[in-house]
Amino acid sequence: LDDDLDRDYIPINEGLQRKIVTLDVQRDDSVQKSRMQLPVFEEEHRILEAIHHNDCVIICGETGSGKTTQVPQFLFESGYGSPDSDTPGMIGITQPRRVAAVAMAERVGRELGNYKKRVGHQIRFDASVDEETSIKFMTDGVLLREMMSDFLLTKYSALIIDEAHERNINTDILIGMLSRVMKLRRDWSCKDPAKYRPLKLIIMSATLRVSDFSENKSLFSSPPPIINVQARQYPVSIHFNRRTAFNYNEEAFRKTCKIHSKLPPGGILVFLTGKGEINEMVRRLRKRFPFKRGNNYDDVAEVKVDSRNADMEAEEVDFSVNDMIDDFSEESSNEDDEEEGEEEGFEETLEEGQTTEDPLYVLPLYSLLPTKEQMKIFEHPPKGARLCVVATNIAETSLTIPDIRYVVDCGRSKERTFNEATGVQSYEINWISKASADQRAGRAGRTGPGHCYRLFSSAIYESEFAQFSKPEILRMPVESVVLTMKSMGIDNITNFPFVTPPTRDSLRKAEKLLQHLGALDDRMIITKLGQKMSHFPLSPRFAKMLLVANQQGCLPYIIAVVSGLSVGDPFISESEIIPRGEDDDENEWRKQQLAKFNKSRQLFTKLDKFSDGLQMLSAICAQDHIPRADREKFFEDNFLRPKIMDEIVKLRKQLTYIAKVNLSKDSIAASSLVKDEELMLSPPTKVQVEAIKQMITAGFIDHVAVRADIVDKNVKIPNNAPITAIQYLTLMPTSESNSDRFVYIHPNSVLSKCGELPPSYLVYQSLTTNNASATSKLRMRPLTDIGGRALANVAASSGLITYSKPLGHPYAPKEISQTERECYVVPRMGANIGTGGVG
Ligand code: ADP
Ligand code: MG
Repeated sequence: LDDDLDRDYIPINEGLQRKIVTLDVQRDDSVQKSRMQLPVFEEEHRILEAIHHNDCVIICGETGSGKTTQVPQFLFESGYGSPDSDTPGMIGITQPRRVAAVAMAERVGRELGNYKKRVGHQIRFDASVDEETSIKFMTDGVLLREMMSDFLLTKYSALIIDEAHERNINTDILIGMLSRVMKLRRDWSCKDPAKYRPLKLIIMSATLRVSDFSENKSLFSSPPPIINVQARQYPVSIHFNRRTAFNYNEEAFRKTCKIHSKLPPGGILVFLTGKGEINEMVRRLRKRFPFKRGNNYDDVAEVKVDSRNADMEAEEVDFSVNDMIDDFSEESSNEDDEEEGEEEGFEETLEEGQTTEDPLYVLPLYSLLPTKEQMKIFEHPPKGARLCVVATNIAETSLTIPDIRYVVDCGRSKERTFNEATGVQSYEINWISKASADQRAGRAGRTGPGHCYRLFSSAIYESEFAQFSKPEILRMPVESVVLTMKSMGIDNITNFPFVTPPTRDSLRKAEKLLQHLGALDDRMIITKLGQKMSHFPLSPRFAKMLLVANQQGCLPYIIAVVSGLSVGDPFISESEIIPRGEDDDENEWRKQQLAKFNKSRQLFTKLDKFSDGLQMLSAICAQDHIPRADREKFFEDNFLRPKIMDEIVKLRKQLTYIAKVNLSKDSIAASSLVKDEELMLSPPTKVQVEAIKQMITAGFIDHVAVRADIVDKNVKIPNNAPITAIQYLTLMPTSESNSDRFVYIHPNSVLSKCGELPPSYLVYQSLTTNNASATSKLRMRPLTDIGGRALANVAASSGLITYSKPLGHPYAPKEISQTERECYVVPRMGANIGTGGVG
């Protein structure tokens, strides 16, 4: 063994000297030849040494250097996963994408020749693993699940966490957990070597920002060694567009055509954001450069997947969302931005007279494409044709396409984003990071010098592109992170070794909120309800509302309300529509508009005049009954924002689908939700209105405000007081109102126009201020009134104790202090609950 390695070893247990078993793998000549050309191949010895001497090793290397396909084989050949060695446990490799797990298992199987059968894969609905399996490729979600039943992962002797640079939530959580498992396995193996063996952890990453892992003291007490695989990378010339192309699909098409017509041979790789865009581009390119003489795409049949289903399943599946990201195709803006004049990067044009109509062999590549279709990128293109792959992010680091010389980069990707207020997930097209842009460019320099055409300007690149993309854990609402982790059985969140930790304070607050929602019990351990909530790609508040609604048969209404609350206010406010008139004519017009406005608003407050949530529901129900063609007029007549209303419809469809998938087991109502695309709601009955208000309250139980005069007899409300000046107190202190600050009704709320003393109790979604100063008024936005008794019931069923005497009782405290306020509605599990109404 090489003793000259200049790094600190974790002292290895003497009793555990490795019994080296080497396997005689017989590979195909061609396979062996191409392996030997991979940069990682030269590092085999160094990698194995490092793994032998350390429990954790980090391997960094350019995409395509052979990490994913070779490192598992190095381990396998040195005896990992062999029953007769002293490292009989399997070699596990995790991938963020299902397709990569399947594709890589297949490739490694093929490379292993006579040992082909020892490689398997496991993704949620598909597995090829048996007792013989030594190398198992899986999604990170699968491994997380396995940890729930076998925390020490005793089946494995080595685990490889691949694509760690992506920093998605599963990978981050896995690395945190495995850093502990690794230590435990080391300790246990010292105590009971016959039963336990150490676990080797290998973290693999494409970019060089590994300090997040290696220098993280809470993960590793001493920094693990980093092995850099030096890849042969040829220079790539970068060509920025002079102006940023907003219609990047069009621009990508134009650029690709130009490259193919004018530039010397070499594959083209086009980066777009999703399946829809890709299929369209593939169709156009195939039409533009068709195959002649019978050379057609019969074998590259376009694949039709029921996008919504496939997609949502992917989500439900492995907690793995990368797969579904591919598919939420958004229309891009249609602004045209033709480049004029001389274009950079086309200097090497073909000789005069050379044909520009050579065939182009165009292939799509995205996660939902069946593996067989994906594998086509590794085959040689038909003779005389140039390869052109139109791909998502997946070609950035997961899969390396051979012989690419030109990269066309739209600079965007589809990313899972979260509405900060609501936690609702959506898929948005955003700029990528500089690191990603460089990765993409690098794809052109694998086999020789190349060119990368960026469809955006260097100014945009400098000003809009972050250096690295933000780890997913910091983009997610922290309650969702905590709930996800609790559902994986991680009870102690505050001490968890995060790769990048959220603040302790935010973790604690999240735990508290989850407890209020009934997702955690008094020991902060997940409840049955919490487990159910964790399956929704929604903020826990909304998940709770949907679950309660499902029990009460109000699901479609709550779905509509949640969509409305998430997307935002569809109502145009009075001040926005009625500009100040100068002359009489205008004044007359103003009056008319105002009358129309008031009439319409009255219509929407018929269900309940104190609730913004129900006003929204009214508008949504009304819209359902307007034929599509007349909707525009309906929005205009009723002063509604068409874009917001459209988005609400979109989100409703998505939530309906999610509810159907997640709740069908529990209720017939959910399974019969909406059969077709069209959503039609008739207005709720009076009883249902009361139920809906309680459900909103259930999701916002920590956001209840009480009118100040109810709790303090000294507060008097003058008869003519403007409604927006009436003081309320929050029942639970919130970060915004943690002094005894009063909160007020927002002027845009329906309540501000109710024309009478507003209700004693209000439930609000958020508090806002006009400016950051501590003296400006805190305003409650979208509001719902709730009766005292109903509030007490909801609070009690959430495990909160409610004040047992009517408030305003002579013995009730006159002034409400911080602690006393907490006494009114305070989470105290097990205390006697529900002894009376608050009201
Ligand atoms: P890394 O993980 O470092 O990015 P990989 O191990 O994925 O690298 O890939 C190493 C090489 O193997 C690449 O050149 C890639 O093109 C090739 N390769 C991977 N999968 C296949 C396959 N199914 N068929 C042919 N070549 C493949
Ligand atoms: Mg890889």
